Amino acid sequence: MSTTKEIRSSFLDYFAKNGHEKVDSSPLVPRNDPTLLFTNAGMVQFKNVFTGQEKRPYNRAVTTQKCVRAGGKHNDLENVGYTARHHTFFEMLGNFSFGDYFKDQAIELAWNLLTKEFGLPEEKLLVTVYHDDDEAADHWKKIAGLSDDRIIRIATSDNFWSMGDTGPCGPCSEIFFDHGEGIPGGPPGSPDEDGDRFIEIWNLVFMQFEQLAGGARENLPRPSIDTGMGLERVTAVLQGKHDNYDIDLMRHIIEASADVSGIAVDGEFKVSHRVIADHLRSSSFLVADGVLPSNEGRGYVLRRIMRRAMRHAHMLGAKEPMVHKLVPTLVDEMGDAFPELARAQSLIEETLKLEETRFKETLDRGLKLLGDATEKLGGSDPLPGDVAFKLYDTFGFPLDLTKDILRGQNRQLDEAGFDAAMKKQKEAARAAWSGSGEAATDTLWFDLHEKVGATEFLGYQTETAEGKV
Ligand code: ATP
Ligand code: MG
Ligand code: MG
Ligand code: MG
Repeated sequence: MSTTKEIRSSFLDYFAKNGHEKVDSSPLVPRNDPTLLFTNAGMVQFKNVFTGQEKRPYNRAVTTQKCVRAGGKHNDLENVGYTARHHTFFEMLGNFSFGDYFKDQAIELAWNLLTKEFGLPEEKLLVTVYHDDDEAADHWKKIAGLSDDRIIRIATSDNFWSMGDTGPCGPCSEIFFDHGEGIPGGPPGSPDEDGDRFIEIWNLVFMQFEQLAGGARENLPRPSIDTGMGLERVTAVLQGKHDNYDIDLMRHIIEASADVSGIAVDGEFKVSHRVIADHLRSSSFLVADGVLPSNEGRGYVLRRIMRRAMRHAHMLGAKEPMVHKLVPTLVDEMGDAFPELARAQSLIEETLKLEETRFKETLDRGLKLLGDATEKLGGSDPLPGDVAFKLYDTFGFPLDLTKDILRGQNRQLDEAGFDAAMKKQKEAARAAWSGSGEAATDTLWFDLHEKVGATEFLGYQTETAEGKV
């Protein structure tokens, strides 16, 4: 059985053998796109190559791209712990053609890799195409010999990709693996397509048009290819697992979590170990790429991810900060492919440890407050917004953390009440401010205060065995 490491290499080698330049993953903080929170797909680093603004010395490339989907347009944070196929951090394997080969060759390369190199059984694979993309449907029929019922036509935007309101765009074709009866979920396009029986492994994007402002669409003179396949998903298939979290790489981290916490991976604790393993990866890679926990922007997304992991460490009964102790295992698993991870190891460990140490004290007390508040509620009453606000303001609970805890109890949150409490506090702060008399300074102060001020509790100065933190 191949390991994740071997599968990553086979993908890169296969496309290199077929004339593709091996290109390193770009960082998680996009260099060329301030509007994008984190790199969330392989094509991000090639955006300007696709539009023609940038030239590279090659017209075919292959990468394994670090991706984080924990905010913005693609947000899988709420899926982690609930589906078999989503991570906040994953590797997207991709091959790219910049005006070189197009649909037929992209389909042929993908099909041959899956069925010949990887040896997947053809009868377990099915594909989708955009509803009017007869060309793609014909190629699938000819090249792969797929029957019509396994080429599913989809009319939604799921199968039509665009870079933005204007610019390159085109139909997609997605490849699914059927993990078999007995797993809930229907084929793509069916009402229960969100189940985990038919799992999308690979998305082929055929960039064939240029969307112009005003609605018109033109054919691109040199159409391009962008593909993305989740390394963890294809590894699951190749290792005979249904679930991404059962592949070797994830299992080793999960086992480390069990070792460090002393809690076996079963029953009610299974989810906590998985969430910790996932969030360890996204947190560590984000720190390695220069993001540090903070109260706004990217840093706040990182803090939210870290605190969710820390809540699960608490559920495992961890008395001491534990997430940082898993970093060496992660570096063992992924430090070869991503040397930046090994280089940043001590910074990652320190950052995780400090955040967990700080959050620990308020976490315990906040959970107690939340427990007391929910005990007073009826079975399905929503949590009052002012309680969620107190957790946020005094105990450092990001709103999504509170919601995630409530989700486990099938309980809603009164979000309007939360917003009202937030507004009230801001107004009170403004009213209490006598001001310096200099309007510009005052405005600046309030802007800063609203961004980083008292709305987020940073923890007390805490004495630990190692001294003050
Ligand atoms: P899904 O519908 O399952 O959420 P997607 O359509 O959002 O997937 P794409 O944006 O097409 O995914 O990304 C290309 C590929 O990257 C997917 O086919 C899948 O293999 C992988 N992928 C996407 N999101 C994740 C994730 N959160 N965790 C792991 N792999 C992912
Ligand atoms: Mg998705
Ligand atoms: Mg999809
Ligand atoms: Mg897709």
